[in-house]
Amino acid sequence: MKRFKQISTIILAIVLSLSVFGCTTKPNETVPDEAEKGNQAQEETYDVVVIGGGGAGLSAAIELKGAGANVVLLEKMPFLGGNTLISGGELNAPETWIQEKLGIEDSVKLYKEDTLKGGDYEGDEALVDVLANNAREAIEWLRDEINVSFKEDYLMQFGGHSVPRAAYPKGGSGDELIGKLTSKAKEMNIPIKLETKAEEILADENGRVNGVRAVDKDGNEITFKANKGVIITTGGFGSNLEMRKKYNDEYDERYMSTDQPGTTGDGIIMAEKLGAALVGMENIQTYPTCSPVTGVLSYVADTRFDGAILVNKEGKRFVEELDRRDVISKAILAQSDGMGYLVWDKTIKDGSHMGEYMDEFEQLIKQGTIVEAETIEEAAKFFEIDVEQLRETIVKYNDFAKNGKDEDFNRRGELIGLTEAPYYIQKVAPSVHHTMGGLKIDTDARVIDNEGNPILGLFAAGEVTGGIHGTNRLGGNAITDIVVFGRIAAENVLK
Ligand code: FAD
Repeated sequence: MKRFKQISTIILAIVLSLSVFGCTTKPNETVPDEAEKGNQAQEETYDVVVIGGGGAGLSAAIELKGAGANVVLLEKMPFLGGNTLISGGELNAPETWIQEKLGIEDSVKLYKEDTLKGGDYEGDEALVDVLANNAREAIEWLRDEINVSFKEDYLMQFGGHSVPRAAYPKGGSGDELIGKLTSKAKEMNIPIKLETKAEEILADENGRVNGVRAVDKDGNEITFKANKGVIITTGGFGSNLEMRKKYNDEYDERYMSTDQPGTTGDGIIMAEKLGAALVGMENIQTYPTCSPVTGVLSYVADTRFDGAILVNKEGKRFVEELDRRDVISKAILAQSDGMGYLVWDKTIKDGSHMGEYMDEFEQLIKQGTIVEAETIEEAAKFFEIDVEQLRETIVKYNDFAKNGKDEDFNRRGELIGLTEAPYYIQKVAPSVHHTMGGLKIDTDARVIDNEGNPILGLFAAGEVTGGIHGTNRLGGNAITDIVVFGRIAAENVLK
């Protein structure tokens, strides 16, 4: 199962972080004697303090250091990466070199329109404009400055996008991004404080933000003074059940989460105390195809993008497989057992990235949420799916594939018939995945207060912010968001 991959990924990240930085208290940090632990008041001064060592925080810190600023990055977990590390790492951009190679016509305008439409036109148009206009540069920055490798002959088309435009990093994982961003940060000697949790954002008597109060793993309080400002990049709040319930009681204990445990909304809580305005907090996204046992997002189930069909226990299709995540999630929960069953064959498997996730596949087999069988009947019986109806559904779908048109759900993209053994069926359910709401920012990534004014010295980027994705974030748009706005925050905090 995917959690296995995530945990091993996280352990790898810990090793990487520790080997990169020597130990968790290095550099620029004093190691207290055992007897003194827990009561050391320390103070360090920087130009900029970045809170949160995921993709947005690392992007911001690297840009700041590159611009000659003295920057420190605080991370509460014992490793860098946040949700970015466990993500698929895929990011959208229009008019890229990969689209050109593949002959895909796209434009900033179309990408912007898809993003706004995907969020039910509730996204802030000015922010979406910045996202769309800077996406290509962001991915080129990752390629050229950070050395991230992308598949050169493949793009993903997530639900809600008109054309394939999501670049696929090596291994189909955020490992590639975080590994390379971390190496760059090391090369630039950026001080990174692991296991250092920001607890309060400090401001002077005029309300100008000038530092962060944090606590390290030994309980020592450290004041990180910030001469130029603070950037909040602490991610969303998908792992904070109480916060989820506070803003939208639909997403209660019934839902597990795909997120890493540090995704608890700390930046939102801290900035709110300084009068920061929040936007779209009720907009919480579920990912439709997760393990019903652990809640973990399944990358094996991404065969959906490569042709797998989604049926219910009665053996019938019930939604367009490439529709938006929220639409599919709600459709799954509306089925008789609240579950979806993805069905695919060898041809679809061979044309997908499933082969890259065989460790997850083995875990799903052990978990009993996936089956591989020589016949559809055998696979259907494993989950007590109506065999006759499923056979009929597949015969009908195969005809659609032959004629190139899905008469039932108008599935976009290429239709692939299910004809070749072995066959696969995977049982899936939605989990809380992304929180679209968060701190209100302007196009310079300045945090806006309840009166509509920027809070001086305070910037934010990434999933901690709200307003970009409206009611619903399209797949591949979060990684674009964190790199675009992480870099913009860095540029503006120095002005
Ligand atoms: P994060 O990467 O979550 O980093 C925030 C960091 O801040 C964390 O390390 C956290 O520990 C730290 N932190 C929090 N509070 C504090 C504090 N008080 N003090 C110090 N540190 C703190 N999006 C895409 O576009 N494409 C994908 O392929 C994709 N796949 C995904 C797969 C999974 C399983 C998940 C969970 C998400 C996926 N997403 C994807 C969404 C995307 O990964 C996230 O929205 C994005 O990575 C968030 O980046 P961030 O830098 O804002 O936050």
